[in-house]
Amino acid sequence: MIPATSRWVDFHCHLDLYRDHQRLLRQCDEASIVTLGVTTTPKAFERNAEMAVGYPYVLVGLGLHPQLVAERAGELSLFEKLLHRTQYVGEVGLDAGPRFYASFQEQRRIFARILRACDEQGSKVLSIHSVRSVSKVLRELEANLPSRTCVPVLHWFTGTRSEMARAIEMGCCFSVNMEMIRSEKMRPILRALPSDRLLTETDGPFVTIDERAIRPTDVPATVSLLAEIRAVDSSLLAQQILENLRGLLLSNARPEPRRQFSLFKAQDGT
Ligand SMILES: [Zn+2]
Repeated sequence: MIPATSRWVDFHCHLDLYRDHQRLLRQCDEASIVTLGVTTTPKAFERNAEMAVGYPYVLVGLGLHPQLVAERAGELSLFEKLLHRTQYVGEVGLDAGPRFYASFQEQRRIFARILRACDEQGSKVLSIHSVRSVSKVLRELEANLPSRTCVPVLHWFTGTRSEMARAIEMGCCFSVNMEMIRSEKMRPILRALPSDRLLTETDGPFVTIDERAIRPTDVPATVSLLAEIRAVDSSLLAQQILENLRGLLLSNARPEPRRQFSLFKAQDGT
């Protein structure tokens, strides 16, 4: 449940990687920004959960980052032990980029185990990394997360239009960040994403803005640029994003699959 006074959504931020973590939590509170603090290792979960006590806008995800699987695969049992403590899972997923390809088979094994554990408990919302591996992520979701009470959110999506269409059919949501907005190549995808599947995120501190690490308080700027790209009213878009998040959390259900989805709907006006 998120506060009734919520205004903005940052559904993927590494709060614990900022030096002024505590100040960031206060800012989320002051500006009413619902922020999912993702973690990169299960060991980090406990400390993050403690720090978020008393901050109703801050949610804490349990994660095992695919880029850390080579060193941290041993924490999988801790992940499974902690999973009942939270509705939010992230950052998890796959990374087939050249730096992490050596661990790709191990990443797949870990991701599959994580998905099966979420599926068994049900009612989880997952923030998923899919660098150069969207199709493989979707295949893992299909095989290991059949429960429709769990909602996969593809964070920082960089896939193709057909991968986007497939993800939509499967009921995935998408959290959009500033880097996606800056990318010319992503424009058609940002226009075509269905409005009821949209969330926003910063992925701070990994994304920068004006040569500094982006912060949850930069989400309003992200929303207004996204609204421009989609040619919609920015305050209506902000409202829609909040409603989308509320819908996910309240019903604990993945949006219905869309078999008839048209890739070019938002672009060519048909
Ligand atoms: Zn991240």
